[in-house]
Amino acid sequence: MERICGHTYDEFLELARRFHGYPAPGLVAGGFMVDLALHNLPSGILFDAIAETDSCLPDAIQMLTPCTVGNGWLKVLDLGRYAICLYDKYEGSGVRVFADPARFERWPEVKTWLLKLKPKSEQDSALLLDQLREAGGDLFGVTPVRIRQHLLAKRSKGSITLCPACGEPFPARDGARCRGCGDETPYETKPAGAPDAVRLPTTSERT
Ligand SMILES: [Zn+2]
Repeated sequence: MERICGHTYDEFLELARRFHGYPAPGLVAGGFMVDLALHNLPSGILFDAIAETDSCLPDAIQMLTPCTVGNGWLKVLDLGRYAICLYDKYEGSGVRVFADPARFERWPEVKTWLLKLKPKSEQDSALLLDQLREAGGDLFGVTPVRIRQHLLAKRSKGSITLCPACGEPFPARDGARCRGCGDETPYETKPAGAPDAVRLPTTSERT
């Protein structure tokens, strides 16, 4: 029986529900990809991970390995490819697991989904999950890779300073003010520390 990093298929679907909200096919396929990558990596090494898309695959890596976005061991490089890579974090050798179209032919619903041959509403998601269960790791190619040197270097924020616009700490190397106070801000309103910003009560102020 096909297993995903020690979990049965049904156990993994349940884990996916808890972590991701629902057992997305991309996450289920991603589980098989992580399993495949781990089997092709030397045991006992400390590894980092790359996801080449920001959908689903980062969650498969975060569910099944110690690598997360938050601890910095997972990099999400949104290259738009359905692929992951696990690699030795010190010397950069690793394995890349990718969607291999030559392997899709036996699994028509998987092919329809991965190549988006039909709109999502016309795809058969139950059949897709069945075919993913049967196909497992057979859908993916594995290739050795070496990570580029600049990605192996430790990232440091450098020195921290206070932003003259919002009053919050930020890395001094970003310039005269924080990037959140520039064009990159996601907000319509001013940040809390700005002189004319609206402030809501904190926990201690509420009690
Ligand atoms: Zn600021």
